Amino acid sequence: MDSLTIESYAKVNLGLWVTGKRPDGYHDIETIMQTVDLKDTIEVSRSPSDLVITCTDPEVPTDHQNLAYQAAESLRVRYKITSGARIHIHKRIPVAAGLAGGSGNGAATLRALNRLWKIGLSESKLIQFAAELGSDVPFCMTGGTALASGRGERLEPLEVSCPGIFVLVKPLCQVSSAWAYQNLRIGLTKLDRKVNLVVCALQQSDRLKLANCLQNDLERPVLPAFPIVEQVKHLLTENGAEGVTMSGSGPTVFGIAQDRTTAEHIACSVTSSDPDLRVFVCAPVSREKIAME
Ligand code: ATP
Repeated sequence: MDSLTIESYAKVNLGLWVTGKRPDGYHDIETIMQTVDLKDTIEVSRSPSDLVITCTDPEVPTDHQNLAYQAAESLRVRYKITSGARIHIHKRIPVAAGLAGGSGNGAATLRALNRLWKIGLSESKLIQFAAELGSDVPFCMTGGTALASGRGERLEPLEVSCPGIFVLVKPLCQVSSAWAYQNLRIGLTKLDRKVNLVVCALQQSDRLKLANCLQNDLERPVLPAFPIVEQVKHLLTENGAEGVTMSGSGPTVFGIAQDRTTAEHIACSVTSSDPDLRVFVCAPVSREKIAME
């Protein structure tokens, strides 16, 4: 095999609670992550010795800062691989948007090169390796629905069927995850954690129950600093989206609709109110579907 193409999915956080600050400077979180069918496509092909990244989005770095590059280089060093690779990313997931676009590319690259370079790492070894690349990368390896804790790297897959169709709205601004965590006043986030309610709503596949308990602690620093995020939340709610919440460290906001027709309708209204917004209608994706690809 000299080349292969792999999909790299986005995620949303169906809840994100910051539970403490760690001695290493990171925060402990509890979050429920859900893969959605907004995706980048990554083409990986063998090359003699060099590692070259190209991307359709000029905003994305193509050097050592790119998570796909970091994934490939770490594999090469750890397993003494002498071959190179050309990695082309067809970007559709907005960048620095709270959707784990970069983490997903890192995970997809690990999976692809494990096959292309015939390294033969097991699923659990790949996930271990992924944790060294970034907190969201292990989730992106398997996807579906999972409860994550620690920095986000400790995963408990949830065997549930996520209800509804999502409308994702990305305003023009970008929010760095580091900034959002640095500006969080941690003492204020400890009460009223609804993680069990979200798990229960997912187990019952109850869309309205789920919509009622979505929560993201990182909205606290982001909303006052980026008023457009609050405006987008109102816009989605006014147009009938349920459980409107920010994903990750934002600025993407998502809401739930009962079906695709309703979601498309909400998406059209939001787009016509502000053409600068990027709007996506997405279905949840299960772990099984990703495993079959
Ligand atoms: P997360 O939800 O994991 O915190 P995010 O969705 O908020 O991530 P990304 O799209 O991963 O953010 O982008 C964050 C930064 O990562 C960008 O500013 C970009 O420079 C860098 N980056 C590195 N590799 C990639 C990649 N393959 N795709 C997109 N961004 C990348």
